[in-house]
Amino acid sequence: MTTQTSGFFKGLKCRECGKTYPADVRYVCEECFGPVEVDYDYDAIKKVLTRQLIESRGHNMWRYKELLPVDGEVTVGPDVGYTPLVKADRLAAALGVKTVYVKNDTVNYPTLSFKDRVVSVALTRAKEFGYETVGCASTGNLANSVAANAAAAGLKAFVIIPSDLEVGKIIGSLIYGAHVVGVDGTYDNVNRLCSEIAGRYNWAFVNVNMRPYYAEGSKTMGYEIAEQLGWELPDQVVSPMAGGSLICKLDKAFKELTKLGLVKGKPVKIYGAQAEGCAPIVNMVKDEADWIKPIRKPNTIVKSLAIGDPADGPYAAATMRQSGGWGENPNDKEVVAGIRLLAETTGIFAETAGGTTVAAAKRLIESGRIDRNGSLVLCITGNGLKTKEAVSGEFKAIDTIKPSLAEFDALLEKSNQTTQEEVPSCR
Ligand SMILES: [Zn+2]
Repeated sequence: MTTQTSGFFKGLKCRECGKTYPADVRYVCEECFGPVEVDYDYDAIKKVLTRQLIESRGHNMWRYKELLPVDGEVTVGPDVGYTPLVKADRLAAALGVKTVYVKNDTVNYPTLSFKDRVVSVALTRAKEFGYETVGCASTGNLANSVAANAAAAGLKAFVIIPSDLEVGKIIGSLIYGAHVVGVDGTYDNVNRLCSEIAGRYNWAFVNVNMRPYYAEGSKTMGYEIAEQLGWELPDQVVSPMAGGSLICKLDKAFKELTKLGLVKGKPVKIYGAQAEGCAPIVNMVKDEADWIKPIRKPNTIVKSLAIGDPADGPYAAATMRQSGGWGENPNDKEVVAGIRLLAETTGIFAETAGGTTVAAAKRLIESGRIDRNGSLVLCITGNGLKTKEAVSGEFKAIDTIKPSLAEFDALLEKSNQTTQEEVPSCR
């Protein structure tokens, strides 16, 4: 299946050998089995796309539509994106750095994670190809987003997940009427099964046969960060890594904006975060290895990042190295402390991937890898209400009183004494 292109995007191109293809349904190169990605005509885009044009458009990620691989108008997820970039001064003080911003995709529309960005592109493209059934292999957030966006667009959805996911994420897919299939196995088992299903049935799997289109949606997070900083690039960015695609696409976004003259170019150091129990990409960076050593049995509370054999792992590692960044792999205890620190200083409740990002940033700052005087953006990609299990054991039972002011006074006095004696600490 091939459709025409917008003229701004030309087709697909192999990331390894450069062979070009029409804008059809494929994700690996026929020559070298390298991954293919979308190829743009930047000269044509440069002639039309200005800061003024972007600013005149709606507050959603489609304000950058010339840089996204769709032919016509967006048909799935027209309101996705343009989430807040929060200046987080109390978090900055706690971490001991000058300036911190939180890119807050915990409030992305409609399913409270950055995956709505990629799904909006993939399903719009799937509709252009004429697919009626869509699916995905997912650690949860992608399943939620495919289920919700397919429901809104009238597409049939199959979402396939490891069966041990958090309850919030399973319900967050079932509610939209999607076919949810739990697989007894790891994400890598699920992903392999999805490739086989896509081969047998004529369905669009957003992160399998739609992958080159899907992955481009992540770039919008990078565009928004630059625009929201007043068309300036940050000095340093920390991003969570599962398959490793987001970190590569943030880098691509910053480079494209520079190429188009929309920002003044400068190096942006890009740092990746994974949890200790499944950190194949961080391990590759730290070991200075040339290849990914897959993790057969991930063991962490950070299920959304638990991909043992990440598809874009080597590219993510190269992005970190070439940008001058680095990777960190905090343990589960640090992850929970990271979730609490973010919540207590910014009012943002992130899922475990967000805790991993904050905890990794803390380590990178303490080790001197992150410059305390440079601007720092933390990409917070998913909402904590989906993974309450991760922090529910952290708290004692709440204080309960009769509806009497005297009882409240007594409680307040008691809690003031406790605060003086032992300051609760998660830092
Ligand atoms: Zn190739």
